[in-house]
Amino acid sequence: MSLISDFILPCARKIYTLILTLLSSLLLMAKNRKRPICEVAVMEHRTANAFGWAARDPSGVLSPFKFSRRATREHDVQIKVLYCGICHSDLHAVKNDWGISKYPLVPGHEIVGVVTRVGSKVRKVKVGDKVGVGCLVGSCRECDQCVNNLENYCPQLILTYNSIDTDGTITYGGYSNIMVADEHFIIRWPENLPPHVGAPLLCAGTTTYSALRYYGFDKPGLHIGVVGLGGLGHVAVKFAKAFGSKVTVISTSVGKKKEAIETIGADAFVVSHEPEEMQAATGSLDGIIDTVPAHHPIEPLLSLLKPHGKMVMVGAPTKPLELPVLSIIMGRRTVGGSMIGGLKETQEMIDFAAEHNVLPNVEVISMNDVNEAMERLEKGDVRYRFVIDIGNTLKQE
Ligand code: NAP
Ligand code: ZN
Repeated sequence: MSLISDFILPCARKIYTLILTLLSSLLLMAKNRKRPICEVAVMEHRTANAFGWAARDPSGVLSPFKFSRRATREHDVQIKVLYCGICHSDLHAVKNDWGISKYPLVPGHEIVGVVTRVGSKVRKVKVGDKVGVGCLVGSCRECDQCVNNLENYCPQLILTYNSIDTDGTITYGGYSNIMVADEHFIIRWPENLPPHVGAPLLCAGTTTYSALRYYGFDKPGLHIGVVGLGGLGHVAVKFAKAFGSKVTVISTSVGKKKEAIETIGADAFVVSHEPEEMQAATGSLDGIIDTVPAHHPIEPLLSLLKPHGKMVMVGAPTKPLELPVLSIIMGRRTVGGSMIGGLKETQEMIDFAAEHNVLPNVEVISMNDVNEAMERLEKGDVRYRFVIDIGNTLKQE
């Protein structure tokens, strides 16, 4: 035991380490000062302050909310959000319709923005690029689904909001000023696609495109029915037309008929509560995409299918629907489902939409009008997708 070995030497070692750390930090700062601005952005790893609107409980009312986004990791991209579409899933989520909502809940998975920072290993995009983020921000990247570009079916998928991220935090969506996501989950934005118009494609587009492709409804000359002319439905009509199908809309809203045919491009319109119209369409369809978000009978819809026809459910009602087994057996019909799309297919869809002019019909709103928009969406009063102008109207309080 001596004063030198027990006290003076350890203290000297600590002071020496401290001086070394300080010197290396000063060296790094000096180095960064000489780098271009975008490279300095790559080097910074601070948590970012974020601001958005969140629902606090199942009343679903959204109000301003401060939170933080994770520090930009080496494969991460940070985005300034410009626009975000309002999907009916956002409405289901804020109201806890599916019983899985975690509050505070910041919705939004039809996000278009501009890249403001990239991690050191990001190769897909650079600062200043326009990009999109859809419904997914993570998956295991190793399972059969992930290696086959079907991240949307990965058992460990992380949704853009209301999911638990790998660090245990809850994910927050695009009704906010900034987003951070791994580059794998970023969509490159086509130059000729206006961001406020294209935003809904990131969910409504990919969901309907993927369902049409997977079930073979993308062959020219088919007759496809689209049930429910809302956000998903009107985009389904446009993709089915782009694939060369004849398209019939099956709707509860007689008032949408003119627009469905003249503006959206459907060939025919059937009002589902008009027995004569339904009767006339019996056995005429090769496939149906059902986008209805509420409980509804599917027997009358199945009767519209030809033998061997397929009905694909993409709408997500909260209560189970009844399955009319005899109708399915007797016509050897298929009832299937489909959920959003993988990243490769989402990029393919957005490029296809830009090339073939598949453009959603949108009503752009300001952030302050989001609660009114939700009420209108619930009543079916939207032609056909609300898009929030986040970039110009989200003001930090
Ligand atoms: P939306 O814009 O509200 O459109 C739904 C349309 O369905 C309405 O415009 C209405 O069309 C019809 N409809 C509404 N209530 C109805 C009822 N009670 N009976 C019959 N028809 C009714 O909703 P959305 O954004 O398209 O979303 C639709 C559903 O898809 C939601 O449940 C959403 O959560 C789900 N979704 C699923 C996926 C997926 O991956 N599978 C992805 C996104 C969204 P008409 O006026 O023409 O009848
Ligand atoms: Zn959606």
